[in-house]
Amino acid sequence: MPTGAGKSLCYQLPAVSKNGTAIVISPLIALMKNQVDQLNSFGINAHFLNSTLSKSESNRVKGEVTAGLTKLLYVAPESLTKEENVQFLKNADISFVAIDEAHCISEWGHDFRPEYRKIKSIIAQIGENLPVIALTATATPKVQQDIQRNLQMEEADLFKSSFNRTNLYYEVRPKMKNDTKKEIIKYIKSQKGKSGIIYCLSRKKVTEIADLLKVNGINAAPYHAGLDGHVRVKNQDDFLNEEVDVIVATIAFGMGIDKPDVRYVIHYDVPKSLEGYYQETGRAGRDGLEGHCLMFYRYEDIVKLEKFNKDKPVNERENAKVLLQEMAAYAESSVCRRRFLLHYFGENLGKDCGFCDNCKKSKETFDGQDDILTVIKAVKETNQRFSMDHIVSMIRGEKDDYIESYDHDKLSTFGQGKDKDTIHWKTVIRQTMIYGLLDKDIENYGVLLLSDKSESYLKEPYPIKISKNHNFEEMAESISSEELSNMGKAYDEKLFELLKAERKKVAKVKNLPPYVIFQDPSLEEMATVYPTSKEELAQINGVGMGKVAKFGASFLRLIEKYVEENEIITASDVVVKTSGTRSKVKITIIQQIDRKIDLDEIANNLNISMSELLHEIEQIIYSGTKLNINYYIQNIMDDEREDILHDYFMTADTDKIREAMAELEEDDFSEEEVRVYRIKFISDHAN
Ligand SMILES: [Zn+2]
Repeated sequence: MPTGAGKSLCYQLPAVSKNGTAIVISPLIALMKNQVDQLNSFGINAHFLNSTLSKSESNRVKGEVTAGLTKLLYVAPESLTKEENVQFLKNADISFVAIDEAHCISEWGHDFRPEYRKIKSIIAQIGENLPVIALTATATPKVQQDIQRNLQMEEADLFKSSFNRTNLYYEVRPKMKNDTKKEIIKYIKSQKGKSGIIYCLSRKKVTEIADLLKVNGINAAPYHAGLDGHVRVKNQDDFLNEEVDVIVATIAFGMGIDKPDVRYVIHYDVPKSLEGYYQETGRAGRDGLEGHCLMFYRYEDIVKLEKFNKDKPVNERENAKVLLQEMAAYAESSVCRRRFLLHYFGENLGKDCGFCDNCKKSKETFDGQDDILTVIKAVKETNQRFSMDHIVSMIRGEKDDYIESYDHDKLSTFGQGKDKDTIHWKTVIRQTMIYGLLDKDIENYGVLLLSDKSESYLKEPYPIKISKNHNFEEMAESISSEELSNMGKAYDEKLFELLKAERKKVAKVKNLPPYVIFQDPSLEEMATVYPTSKEELAQINGVGMGKVAKFGASFLRLIEKYVEENEIITASDVVVKTSGTRSKVKITIIQQIDRKIDLDEIANNLNISMSELLHEIEQIIYSGTKLNINYYIQNIMDDEREDILHDYFMTADTDKIREAMAELEEDDFSEEEVRVYRIKFISDHAN
């Protein structure tokens, strides 16, 4: 049953109507108190028994259970395994046992907990023939089977409600370095006043994204397990009370949070499994109204996650890898998202949903009839005993020891698809499964089986359209190159020309080359976001407060007049402001230069190369901070050579190093010398 569909009611109601106490086993200690408080507020006697209780508190709880007053007793699996608790429960009048989050039993699931494996034997100790109910909101057919087996309840009645959340819109976009952050800011600004959650994988990312949103005027707060308890509680409460619009969180956030009007869930990082993805996206639109599930994806993130798993035991590592591959397959597939998701959870939608990005966008398709036949034949010829990878290698005619040892190179389908690549064949196999023409073996994970429709398709095939996978790397590239080519038009060209003219005027008055005042990219940015206050101007790349004070006034007047005359709504809400905190490295550099330490030594101290150090210093001075490195320049060149460089930069059209090197060829300067001098020049004249 999906999250929010009323799972708890399935055991709460019988617990109230039956005699005795129902035991509810739940792994979420943090939520037990909430659940118990809620029940108590309805006048139902409920308690919890876990490690957070003191001795006297737990004695009081036990007293009420023994007296037959308690209807529901929530227990953590760790507490359940304690001998004294088992003895106590044995003597109590227990109505039944409910196992919440039952997928934790299965090592095939995404949230395996070893102590859950012991539950069955403990229930047996507590009482003979105790009724048992197990509940979960995320379980693939494999996990469902595993739960039933482990609890020895394969004969039990199975109730499954549809996992389909029809009000959720699923979308996957390519993840690109800086553009994705910009996209998220733009997106959130377009959702004014609505509640949303952004999931990131690491605490560090959570902090970074939350800070970024805050400096861009978005009411956001972070949430992760590393925060102080009271900060975490405050941020969560602020989100629930709508003091905060956006919560940026690791997956630690959301368990048991019942905010009905979350309008969007963004995955900045790809989750570790489709179960996790489904659970997290499930927190959107609990009230049945709109819910946008937006994930940013790139394959690199999958690779990164795989690396995290390398220290796990072999078995767990292999399972984690399978989950990740399913996640990647979902993201890259152009099949209806809902169809793919529901198929993963063992449900057949039968048709495309019309309400996901893959349904909305036109996509490249091809007639897959022949390829589907090849795939089904290959599974049949190999006696339904092999996984997708093996079938693909065989169809592609890749001879290896494994294939030869089974004589698979002698089969009719061997090499039949060698003209098409591995991705093509995997796409075909996945879609053949989604259309129900092949099945996955639950017993032997990953093994492909014929379905009840396979034979009839072999006899009477019909055309089926297969859609090509998304190529996210290509998409990312084409988007960024498109954006690059658009950049020329992205800014207000008329304003840009006016700003350039102003720069020329100012340069003339100050007797400086124009680039020293502001560089072209800074003017372009001004002509994009129309800063009209000193603070806004200081946010432009390469400007900073120092430059605003020195050169900013006339530029601000010009922009203000232009904005007024042309009735422009300033677009400062589109620009991504980076959080102003300087990195530690930069602060160290500034401090050491103040103490006149040689640059070589600073580089040494920081364990970076000279070139990297110069790059850091360039960033510092181009954002408007003054640095005095005369002490160093005097060490490395005499006055005469300083004059040559000074004259060059004073008259040059640009401060580009390459052009300087070409122009100064005869004087035999090293690149380092030119760069160092340029730092002095910009710092002296521009800042
Ligand atoms: Zn769809």
